[in-house]
Amino acid sequence: MESALTARDRVGVQDFVLLENYNSEVAFIDNLRRRFRENLIYTYIGSVLVSVNPYKDLEIYSKAQMERYRGVSFYEISPHIYALSDNTYRAMRTERKDQCILISGESGAGKTEASKKILLYYTVTCPTGDHMAALGERLLQSNPVLEAFGNAKTLRNDNSSRFGKYMDVQFDFKGVPVGGHILNYLLEKSRVVHQNHGERNFHIFYQLLEGGDDDLLKSLELERNPQNYNYLVKVSINDKNSWKTVMNALLVIGFVEEEVQNLMNIIGGILHLGNTQFGEGEEGETYVTNEDQILTLEKVSRAKLTAKGEEMISPLNFEQTLSARDALAKSVYRRTFNWLVEKINQSLAQKVMQKFKDSTEKISLSLGFEQFCINYCNEKLQQLFIELTLQYEQEEYETEGITVQYFDNKIICELIEEKHKGIISIMNEECLRPGETCDASFLEKMEDSIGGHPHFVTHKLANGKTRRVMSREEFRLLHYAGEVSYNVNGETILKQNEGLCPKRSHDHVFVIQASTQFKNSLMKLMEILMSKEPSYVRCIKPNDSKQPGKFDEVLVRHQVKYLGLMENLRVRRAGFAYRRRFEAFLQRYKPLCPETWPNWNGCLSDGVSTLVEHLGYTPEEYKLGRSKIFIRFPKTLFTTEDALEAK
Ligand code: ADP
Repeated sequence: MESALTARDRVGVQDFVLLENYNSEVAFIDNLRRRFRENLIYTYIGSVLVSVNPYKDLEIYSKAQMERYRGVSFYEISPHIYALSDNTYRAMRTERKDQCILISGESGAGKTEASKKILLYYTVTCPTGDHMAALGERLLQSNPVLEAFGNAKTLRNDNSSRFGKYMDVQFDFKGVPVGGHILNYLLEKSRVVHQNHGERNFHIFYQLLEGGDDDLLKSLELERNPQNYNYLVKVSINDKNSWKTVMNALLVIGFVEEEVQNLMNIIGGILHLGNTQFGEGEEGETYVTNEDQILTLEKVSRAKLTAKGEEMISPLNFEQTLSARDALAKSVYRRTFNWLVEKINQSLAQKVMQKFKDSTEKISLSLGFEQFCINYCNEKLQQLFIELTLQYEQEEYETEGITVQYFDNKIICELIEEKHKGIISIMNEECLRPGETCDASFLEKMEDSIGGHPHFVTHKLANGKTRRVMSREEFRLLHYAGEVSYNVNGETILKQNEGLCPKRSHDHVFVIQASTQFKNSLMKLMEILMSKEPSYVRCIKPNDSKQPGKFDEVLVRHQVKYLGLMENLRVRRAGFAYRRRFEAFLQRYKPLCPETWPNWNGCLSDGVSTLVEHLGYTPEEYKLGRSKIFIRFPKTLFTTEDALEAK
């Protein structure tokens, strides 16, 4: 039989706090790799769950596995997303406090899958009330619908969520799930009209063309081949089957036939809109080139949408016309998506008691306004993590006279959001000011106000010289996760949002208010999250080629760095490596002491005390808190574990 020690060599430690050399990044990554090789994709850092995407189906999510994790303490069996789900649920019930689960990581790291596993765990294991069966089903079925309309294939992930999602699951006082609510923010609507090479539009377009039956396609005057549509590229990924899944999900959620038909009218209308071609007249005016295409707007309006003004001859020039067309398509899609989420929410609506959150924000390769907001959002989430976890722990240790250094990204958040001086505020001011071009002056204004900021880089150097390698239209932000370059010229930051107008206009004002609105909604979200008890899942992507079994060390190291996992571990280890609730500790180790075996009848604290004294723990090795035992060194626990193993 394998001894406990060699097993540990092979599969590493299940909690990073048990690493002998907790300051070593090499040891950290080595531990991750060992476990990954053994298909052990989950590891704790204390109460934080680190997850590495296996890119293959593992047999660890069955109902039997759920049963294993029910009511079991965090450390007793191998780390699992179910353990975290169960712990969160029990904390809600025993402490009567709202919980949130924050899931972070880069695109393709496994955030969406993690959120689905959590949902599945609750729908399967929680007690059911009268309406639960239907509610559970609707909660689960909201996923394929949201994914069809909000996900797309990107270079990094074949099924990448292109919107931020905050989801509540509500429980009644008996712990029965009674409702749900989804908050969506920042749909990447530019994808409707443009995709980077190798990427696709939102799944639903392809699903409709491949899966919709002949009659439906005929009624929408659509052809099957995506290549016939300007807004689509041809890359098929089993869209036919997904179509069936989505249609079924819509029914389960409670959409009626007419609503589904209307939805598809809109999707088809957008495809037709994208195919409208324009010509340029002698005086620079724009017109629709043939009658077929004039019909296009009629097709769109069938979905009860009106194009800006009915006239086909517009005072816009050719380029403006194209961008107005695209802006219409994007805005129609965004509204449709919001409507869809609203409908799902109506179907899930119930009273509020407990919540959990999925912060599925992505880093995509295309940069622009939306990318800026996404990165800002990730920055805020990291700050929340720091405030709630690192600072909290530090306060706990301050009494012990221990301080721990970590990188606080507050400085970057402030650079973006500060009143008067922050980037969003400069952006707003710039776009409300009358004048012709604003992008160049936007950059200048930023150089004036924040030029010397350590996290802001432009082509201008402090000594008045210029950086050759940077374009004059570019600025870079040193986000906590790495450096990102943003372009201020036409296609990006200032205009990307609605894409309507290269000059200052009402649209521009809107554009800008959108970033402020986003900032405000983020602030609100942060406030909500701060009021809850957080748990964390930190997702890691092991390689860029979506391959099972491949562990790209450079890529992993980068993520370990920017997720702040080493800091997290250091803080956790600075004082007591390990902590367990009295009942869990006693339950596990009581066979090692005749006085606690088979049962201890006194108070829990005394039981633990008796047990560790019997085991020979010295006072400096441990401390008893109000409900938990704190153990300073991993060795102490290993010795105890080995004793248990030997028994
Ligand atoms: P994210 O939401 O972080 O962008 P996803 O959750 O969509 O990433 O994961 C990307 C892909 O990786 C999934 O479509 C799935 O194929 C695979 N994957 C992620 N997590 C798991 C898991 N726990 N088990 C098996 N495959 C997974």
